[in-house]
Amino acid sequence: MKIDILTLFPEMFEGVFNYSIIKRAQEKGLAEIKIHNLRNWAIDKRGTVDDRPYGGGPGMILMIEPIYKALKYLKAIPHYDTKNAPAKMTPKIGKQKIILLSPSGKLFNQKKAQELSKMKRIILVCGHYEGVDERVAEYLVDEEISIGDYILTGGELPAMVLVDAIVRLIPNVLEKPEAIKSESFSPLLEYPQYTRPENFKGLKVPEILLSGNHQKIAQWREKMALEKTKKRRPELLKNFK
Ligand code: SAM
Repeated sequence: MKIDILTLFPEMFEGVFNYSIIKRAQEKGLAEIKIHNLRNWAIDKRGTVDDRPYGGGPGMILMIEPIYKALKYLKAIPHYDTKNAPAKMTPKIGKQKIILLSPSGKLFNQKKAQELSKMKRIILVCGHYEGVDERVAEYLVDEEISIGDYILTGGELPAMVLVDAIVRLIPNVLEKPEAIKSESFSPLLEYPQYTRPENFKGLKVPEILLSGNHQKIAQWREKMALEKTKKRRPELLKNFK
């Protein structure tokens, strides 16, 4: 999968994807992550990419033009002139998704990560300052995604969250892909896990896990996952058959 990230703060990504599973995914050639400085497509030599909001109000708004030019450069959208600009500028190019990180977007979850892990290419647009000209959401991107009901300074951390969650789901990235099936949100919360020692200051590991009876252990884990989900996240049970 090819992943392009458009940001005003490329330095924030330095080293972030050079660890663990995400690093290995890149080494295996399963993910190719490129960070692009949006200022490369500024509207003038001074590097302008933002301006004050029409109608007044605080802060600065990222302009549509640098984002349009960047997407065009990345061949994610074709060139449009003012006469033939369609209602939506994002063409359906194979398995490609252009995503704007935005608090107004749809809440990101494991299901969305699964869906996006099947794409050939994703392009993540990070907003900053007071936000992004609304025409970007309306005309340039396929969708807007939020990582939670809170406001962050920029779309950089959300982009990192998306990349991490998506890349580990790309086929052949995880060495033990069967682990994904029992991970939390698939659709239940994961069963409780333990490791050595069996007894830590009187805190004992459930005996069943030491029994060596794989069938019984599987049944216990299923039961525990269900109980945990019922107690902590009952709304997840509606996706459980
Ligand atoms: N004024 C905007 C609002 O009230 O919705 C918030 C702008 S925020 C300070 C700047 C940028 O950070 C946004 O354009 C977006 O790209 C990113 N951002 C902030 N919180 C986010 C979240 N929960 N999920 C995804 N992106 C977020």
